[in-house]
Amino acid sequence: MTHDVVIVGGGIAGLTIAWELARSGRDVVLVEASEDAGGMLRRGTAAGLDADLGAESFATRTSGVADLVADARLPVQLVEPAPAGAHVAFRRRSGRVDRAPLPRRALVGMPADPTAADVVRIIGRAGARRAAQEHSMPWSTGPEPTLADLATSRFGVRVTARLVEPLCRSVYSQSADSVRLSSLHPVLWEKAQALGSLTAAVDALAPAVRAGSAVRGVEGGLWRLAAELEAAALRAGAVIRTGAPARSVTATTAVLDGETLAARAVVVATGPNAAAGLLQVEVAPAPPVGLVVAEVVSDAFDAFPVGSGVIAAPDVDSAAKALTHVDAKWEWAAAALPAGTHLLRLSARDGRHQELTDAAGAAAAIRTLTGVRLAPTDVRRVVPVAWPDAVATPSARAAVSEAAATRGIRLAGAVAAGTGLASVIPHARALATHLLSAPTLTEGERHVR
Ligand SMILES: Cc1cc2nc3c(=O)[nH]c(=O)nc-3n(C[C@H](O)[C@H](O)[C@H](O)COP(=O)(O)OP(=O)(O)OC[C@H]3O[C@@H](n4cnc5c(N)ncnc54)[C@H](O)[C@@H]3O)c2cc1C
Repeated sequence: MTHDVVIVGGGIAGLTIAWELARSGRDVVLVEASEDAGGMLRRGTAAGLDADLGAESFATRTSGVADLVADARLPVQLVEPAPAGAHVAFRRRSGRVDRAPLPRRALVGMPADPTAADVVRIIGRAGARRAAQEHSMPWSTGPEPTLADLATSRFGVRVTARLVEPLCRSVYSQSADSVRLSSLHPVLWEKAQALGSLTAAVDALAPAVRAGSAVRGVEGGLWRLAAELEAAALRAGAVIRTGAPARSVTATTAVLDGETLAARAVVVATGPNAAAGLLQVEVAPAPPVGLVVAEVVSDAFDAFPVGSGVIAAPDVDSAAKALTHVDAKWEWAAAALPAGTHLLRLSARDGRHQELTDAAGAAAAIRTLTGVRLAPTDVRRVVPVAWPDAVATPSARAAVSEAAATRGIRLAGAVAAGTGLASVIPHARALATHLLSAPTLTEGERHVR
């Protein structure tokens, strides 16, 4: 039997395509290697609460998530984070670790007004004077430098070290010297080229409110988005097979253990390393993304000492590069937790996940990032999770995309669209629209092969 489309990978990208195709009457089969669909939108339990063990919010730089929720009539409530905002931890010249709220108006760490008080608080007066020169510097029309080189040449080293680099590492899991702005935030890059200044571009695009408000979430956890989308795809007639890893693919087949699925089109919607394996291209795998969800009992966190969380500059010595205070960020989480109990998500620095997986290690990182004196006994439980296939490096994206295009295999997910739901979902929907432009199989075609 030949299907219209076989999708390999049941993360949010694969589920989006399955739903889109099934609701238009296409015969679509999705195969997912693990026992549950959802990919990096995964539910766990901490402090008796359903908690996200992967992505926990989405950027509002595109309307991709909100449009999907509306169009698929998903029974989820999109919510704003609490207005607390996030902080950055950085090392002063004296060696002391300081913390300050992230600037109100900035994008990818680059400020709309380098002399604003909340920017000066982080980069100092001399750093601000240097950064303020960006506005009147001539714009280079040469090849695009790395984000780190771009930020340093335009704003100076302080902006790169204390704002751009920590933002880039915590949000995109990549160092600013390994990425380009055009791939992280294409709209900002285009605007900067048009206006000849990053300051002017950020000023034009940055929301007028506190950092962190450029994201939204789902009441009860982002994992619910994938769970409800899976249910919608099933209702529309998609076949979703879990525990069914594909071992190889061609433009018209997906080979599983002991079985070959035939289709008019095959979509690979796995993570980048898995896609490279299926397409038989060599890529240097990025390090896994390590996360720990810690249940903490401490009154010191009742006052939200670092707002919704804190990101750490590279010179802050800690096994964690970022911390999210879940119940400070999401009111639904605060309402569900007992008084004095808090949920903290710690994102590990590359190679240091293991240090966070016991109460002592988690407490040490929480102390460094927040300044709160926390004893290991205050950390009641840690839930560690490692994501081995989360980061799509620029070189992996290029190699996998080229291999897929050469072989007529469709590619979806972060490897094709870039990291994050705001990119992955619109890309998946556009691919589904493209697949729908091919006529559906006739009964004769479906059964003859
Ligand atoms: C800790 C963490 C925090 C994050 N936070 C955010 C955030 O706050 N906001 C945001 O927008 N993004 C965030 N992201 C990124 C976001 O989760 C991803 O960009 C997005 O979920 C990618 O979806 P996907 O469908 O492309 O891939 P995935 O979710 O990785 O799904 C791919 C699926 O393919 C399956 N698969 C792999 N190989 C095979 C095979 N051979 N056969 C069949 N199936 C296979 C996998 O099991 C998996 O289920 C975060 C990621 C992590 C890890």
